[in-house]
Amino acid sequence: RFTPAAAKAAEQVSSQWKGTTADGGKTKNYIGGQFVDSTASKWLDVRDPSTQTVVNQVPETTEDEFNAAVEAAAEAYKTWSTTSIIRRQRVVFELQHLIRQHTPDIANSIVLEQGKTFADAQGDVHRGLQVVEAATAITSTLLGDKLEVATDMDTYSRRLPLGVCACITPFNFPAMIVLWSAALATVTGNTLIIKPSERDPGATMIIAELCERAGFPKGVINVVHGSAATVNRICDHPKIKAISFVGGDNAGKHIYTRATALGKRVQANMGAKNHAVIMPDANKNLTLNAVAGAAFGAAGQRCMALSVAIFVGAAQQWVPDLIERAKGLKITGGFESGADLGPVISPQAKDRIEGFIASADEEGGKILLDGRGCEVPEYPDGNFVGPTVLEVTTDMKAYKNEIFGPVLCIVSAKTLDEAIEIINANPYGNGAAIFTNNGATGRKFETLAEPGQIGINVAVPVPLPMFNWSGNKGSFMGDIPFYGKTGLDFYTQRKTTTALWPHEDAISEKASVVMPQ
Ligand code: NAD
Repeated sequence: RFTPAAAKAAEQVSSQWKGTTADGGKTKNYIGGQFVDSTASKWLDVRDPSTQTVVNQVPETTEDEFNAAVEAAAEAYKTWSTTSIIRRQRVVFELQHLIRQHTPDIANSIVLEQGKTFADAQGDVHRGLQVVEAATAITSTLLGDKLEVATDMDTYSRRLPLGVCACITPFNFPAMIVLWSAALATVTGNTLIIKPSERDPGATMIIAELCERAGFPKGVINVVHGSAATVNRICDHPKIKAISFVGGDNAGKHIYTRATALGKRVQANMGAKNHAVIMPDANKNLTLNAVAGAAFGAAGQRCMALSVAIFVGAAQQWVPDLIERAKGLKITGGFESGADLGPVISPQAKDRIEGFIASADEEGGKILLDGRGCEVPEYPDGNFVGPTVLEVTTDMKAYKNEIFGPVLCIVSAKTLDEAIEIINANPYGNGAAIFTNNGATGRKFETLAEPGQIGINVAVPVPLPMFNWSGNKGSFMGDIPFYGKTGLDFYTQRKTTTALWPHEDAISEKASVVMPQ
C-alpha cells in the first residue's frame, strides 16, 4: 500500500493526466496524437520500489500498434519537416514553459515509479528542461554556411532533418533523457518514436501530453511501450532513420549492432565506472561532501554516480570521516521530508547489489560500511540498500562491474600517476574527477585521464547543454554524441548546393567536357 504522501501524489497523477495512471491501471500508448489503449496480451507491472504497490502496467506493444506509430510519424514528417523553423521554435518555447509549470507533477510520477527523492526527481526534470531551453536557440544554432565561390557562383550548406527517429531510454532518468530527444529531434524537423523504460513510463506520458498542449502536431511525437520485442522492431523498421539509445551495455551493444547493420544512425550511451582521485592537498570538507553526495545520491543509480574513490597518499586518512558522512544520510521513501536516498529500482537490483557487497568480502576486500539488511520501519517492503563503502583492489568483482547502487569502492594509490593509470586501465570512460587545490595537479589530471567528462573539484561533471555529453571508451558507441552542438549534428544531415547564375554573354557556344573546377 502507498503511504499517505504517495497516495496523494498517485491521486494527482491519476486524475490529471490522460496517458498514465497510478491506480494500478493501464498505461496508454500515444500514437498519431491519440492516447490509445493497447490490445497487448502481455503487460508488465510497474511497482513503487518503496512499497511494491503496483502503480500501473505497461503493454508489450503489438506489431500493428508499433507500425501505426511509425506510419503516424512518417505522415507527420511530411508537414513538420517543412514547417518553418520559427514555428518549430515557438512550439519548443511553449514546451519549456509547460514543463517548468508542471515539474512537480512529473516529479511525483518519478518518485512513485522510480523511487528517487522528490528533490532529486525535480532535478531529473530540470536537467532535461535545460536541453529544451537550449533547443529554443535553434534559429541561431542551425545557421548554415554560405560562400560566394565566384562572382556568379554560390555554394551553401543547409542542415536538414533525417525523417522518423526513435529514442530508447533507461529507468534512471525518466524525464531528463526523454527530453533530450523530444526537444532536439523535433526542433530540427524530425518526428519521433519514444520507447521509454518499461519500469517508469509515467514521466514520458506526462511529457507527451505537454508536447500536445505545446502545439506539436499529431504524429510528431509518439510513445510506444514495451521491452526487447518493441526495441527490436525499432531497430528493424525501414522507416526509422536514427536511434538515440541510453541504457546498459548489453542492450546498447545489441541495438547499435542490429540497427547500424541496417544503415541506421545510432548513438548509444551506456554503462560506467566513474572514479574520483582525492589528493591530500584538497579541501577536505568540500571533497568528502562531494564524494558522499555523488556516490550515494539517487541510491547510486546515476550513470555519472561516483563508484570508485582513489585516495592518494595521506588523503587515505580521510576514509573514516567519509564513512561518518555516509552514515549521516537519511534512507527512506522519496516523498519523506529530509530523504537523502530512496530505494533501488527492484528487489532483483537489491539482490544483485548485495551480491557485489558480499563478493568483496569473499575475495579478500573489506566492507568498511555495510548497507545490506537496511531496514526502514515505515517501508518494510522497500528495496533499500544503505550507503556502502568497500575497500577493494582492481581485480575484484565489485571493482570490475558497474554495481549501480549506493556502493563506493575505495582503492588506494601512492601517487597521482598511479591513480591515473588505474583510471585509464578501466574499460569505461564516462567521467572522472579530481579533488585538489593545486592547479597544476588538476591540469595534469585533465590532460592524462582518458574519460570524456572531467571534474576538477566537481564530483558529477555532467556538462550543461551548450556542451555535449562526451562519455567515451566503453561508455559510448557511435560517432555523434548527445546534445550540445553534436546533438544537432545527430538529428540533421547536410545538403550543399552549388548555384551558377552567369550573365548570358559569359556562356560559350561549345560544351565543355572537362571536370568542372
Ligand atoms: P537497460 O539497458 O536495462 O534498459 C534501457 C532500455 O533498453 C530500456 O528502454 C529497455 O527496455 C531496453 N532494453 C533492455 N534490455 C534490452 C534487450 N535485451 N534488448 C533490447 N532492448 C533492451 O538499462 P537500465 O537498467 O534501464 O538503465 C541503467 C543503465 O543505463 C546503467 O548501465 C547506466 O549506466 C546506463 N545509463 C547510461 C547513461 C549515460 O549517459 N551513459 C545515462 C543513464 C543510464
